[in-house]
Amino acid sequence: MPIAVQSMTNKKTEDIGATIEQIKQLEAVGCELVRVAVPNSKATEAIPAIRKEINIPLIADIHFHWEYAIDALEAGADKIRINPGNIGKLDLVGAIIEKAKEKGAAIRIGVNSGSLHPKHKKEKDASIALVKSCMEYLRFCEEANFHDIVLSVKSSSVVNSINAYRMLSKETDYPLHLGITESGSLMSGTVKSSVGLGVLLADGIGDTIRVSLSADPVHEIQVAFQILQALGLRSYGPEIISCPTCGRCDIDVIPVVEEIEKRLMSVRMPLKIAIMGCVVNGPGEAREADIGIAGGKKEGILFKEGKAIRRVSSKNMVKELMSEIELLIRDIKKAEG
Ligand code: SF4
Repeated sequence: MPIAVQSMTNKKTEDIGATIEQIKQLEAVGCELVRVAVPNSKATEAIPAIRKEINIPLIADIHFHWEYAIDALEAGADKIRINPGNIGKLDLVGAIIEKAKEKGAAIRIGVNSGSLHPKHKKEKDASIALVKSCMEYLRFCEEANFHDIVLSVKSSSVVNSINAYRMLSKETDYPLHLGITESGSLMSGTVKSSVGLGVLLADGIGDTIRVSLSADPVHEIQVAFQILQALGLRSYGPEIISCPTCGRCDIDVIPVVEEIEKRLMSVRMPLKIAIMGCVVNGPGEAREADIGIAGGKKEGILFKEGKAIRRVSSKNMVKELMSEIELLIRDIKKAEG
């Protein structure tokens, strides 16, 4: 099974129109599971209308109020996420489990470093505390003969997350949802998530992932797929090989790369595009790519499928690259029928 990519809306769930619109935007960039916050009864009431309009499973995110979990399941949520740190006594979880069984829904036991149950806060090793809390709820679910479970042990510390997930993966075979929680802005969140999730995924750990960013959730999906693509686990779209530029460079690599990346944002074909500044590594990388350009003095040599095909001026690089890329995409689609 491919690693599935998840995100979470940041609209008020009771604003049904805005929530649906955001989920549609997420679906358009490849989101495969979406979570919505359910902090009040208006949010649970919105679930049927949202569910009807979207094409991916809907997860209700519940904190503090076990009764909203019951209502969300009744309203048609495909899965609920509960947090052992704040959902209350285990017998309340029992009621959620029975409702999930009745509805054929899954439960994610989502432990979070920011909201550990008080009894686990005394544990010196934060990773052990995360795992202990998760395992306690897992055992309770198993005793209730409920097994449609996903587990997560997220921390805002990359190291603690890695340690906790590694420990958890040794304890159980249930699917694991990976994430580095509250990982920050587009830049820092991307770095932390790439390091944390990258290490775990490379270890073979993880079934679903979410990149948490203080940014438009559309970026969460794009970053998540880039992580999976970098590890060779999923294909998302064209890979752009580009050099960092240096004093040898005589063409404007950076704006060309930015423009090509922007124009290929919606392309899902696994092409390799090289955009290189000079003859040092340029011809080698451009030849290896499906389409490539190797910079020279105010011009570049355009390569297609390993062969130099023509020289292009600096100012026409984007246009020439795009026209060759579009031709290639058209030919591949034709060949695929
Ligand atoms: S390919 Fe050329 S311009 Fe680009 S970083 Fe390497 S040496 Fe510098």
